[in-house]
Amino acid sequence: MSSPSDTQRMERIVSLCKRRGFIFQASEIYGGLNGVWDYGPLGVELKRNLKDYWWRVMVRERDDVVGMDGAILTHHGVLKASGHEDTFSDPMVDCRTCKARLRADQLPEKSGVKQCPNCGGKDLTEARPFNLMFSTQMGASADPESIAYLRPETAQSIFVQFKNVLDTARKKLPFGIAQIGKAFRNEINPRNYIFRSREFEQMELEYFCRPEQGMELLDYWLEERLKFYENIGIGRDKLHVLTVPDADRAFYSKGTYDIEYAFPFGMQELEGVAYRTDYDLTQHQTASGKTLDYFDEETKARFIPHVIEPSAGVDRTVLALLCEAYAEETVTDEKGKSETRIVLRFHPRIAPIKCGIFPLLKNQPELVAKARAVQALLRPFMNVFYDETGAIGRRYRRQDEAGTPFGITIDFETLGERDPGLRDTVTLRDRDSMEQERVKIGELTARLVAAIA
Ligand code: ATP
Repeated sequence: MSSPSDTQRMERIVSLCKRRGFIFQASEIYGGLNGVWDYGPLGVELKRNLKDYWWRVMVRERDDVVGMDGAILTHHGVLKASGHEDTFSDPMVDCRTCKARLRADQLPEKSGVKQCPNCGGKDLTEARPFNLMFSTQMGASADPESIAYLRPETAQSIFVQFKNVLDTARKKLPFGIAQIGKAFRNEINPRNYIFRSREFEQMELEYFCRPEQGMELLDYWLEERLKFYENIGIGRDKLHVLTVPDADRAFYSKGTYDIEYAFPFGMQELEGVAYRTDYDLTQHQTASGKTLDYFDEETKARFIPHVIEPSAGVDRTVLALLCEAYAEETVTDEKGKSETRIVLRFHPRIAPIKCGIFPLLKNQPELVAKARAVQALLRPFMNVFYDETGAIGRRYRRQDEAGTPFGITIDFETLGERDPGLRDTVTLRDRDSMEQERVKIGELTARLVAAIA
């Protein structure tokens, strides 16, 4: 098969995701909700494995980071002080011909004239700022004081709770507070599948430090984050680090890197790593009138810590994992016929299903009982999938498409019918090489747990 164009590749990934139950359009049977997505049975496992691994390396395996889980509904005062109420906007234009609402900074140009990407029209309104926050009303009264926002990022609740966490976790600088959770932005043009959506999840760390440590820690966190992507199967050669130029950085930031991935639709941001100085804590201290400083026991000085923020998108990383894993290859089946194999080559640690379990024949009670016993053995340690329907080759293919790294087949050798020496052994198939080896049932757990850790 000739290699597909980037557009075709993206279409095939989207169609596989729907067909196999990774991602569905939200509210689909009512016509769908633009820029909002639901994750199906395989997608939710993939996403959960990604978040769990982030939490493991960013929080549990470190002495200097603690976690929190903040509320989505946010006091308007928080987002006034952070600057979101006044400046969290994108420039918007309307097309007078087809009435489309468009982002002014993303319009295609023809002969130097900006055009509507929808209808090709050139009759566009002037750009005006459009605030991206979703607001809502708390309680029954409708006065301006009862306005609350769905948070546009997880970071602000970390800043607002800085003092409470500091007092209870008793950490010394430098230390971080991490959070994974939903964020909401009323994007003017949600697009590129789950890349830019209106409801999404972030994985954010706010790492507090002394002012003089800021620049060094910015580079340290960039390196840690690149290692993270490598450890989930996105190598450094697939990533590009953009040093955000002075003119494009937030005015309070002393340095920002964007970690970008080569998506089929272009090189785009996965994560931002920003040195935000003491901007956020200072803003909240001033606006709330509550001190958010740090007392240094050694020097007896009080100061507002600086902060480094690695901020990653869960959904964008899920999309990068899918794009990175997707492969089509020509293989020859048992009868010598060549066919196309679609396979998701996920790193075992993030694969939604770790192991398929297959009794060779479903009408042989002893094979089925043995396969069910292997399922019960592995289940407490990993997500496994039992499948007894169809030819074994087809069952393998189904798991290849789901990205399952291992397959276990229980056959007559397992029952010791031919060679008593092979009793209680199974075949273990590797998704990528498609090679099989015989492994003792008693050794399966340790072997697979090590492979998915
Ligand atoms: P972009 O320029 O692409 O809109 P951003 O620079 O505004 O992104 P940040 O505010 O730095 O993004 O948010 C941190 C991370 O959150 C991003 O790197 C991205 O992974 C994720 N993210 C932001 N907006 C969205 C969105 N609309 N849909 C999905 N993920 C998002």
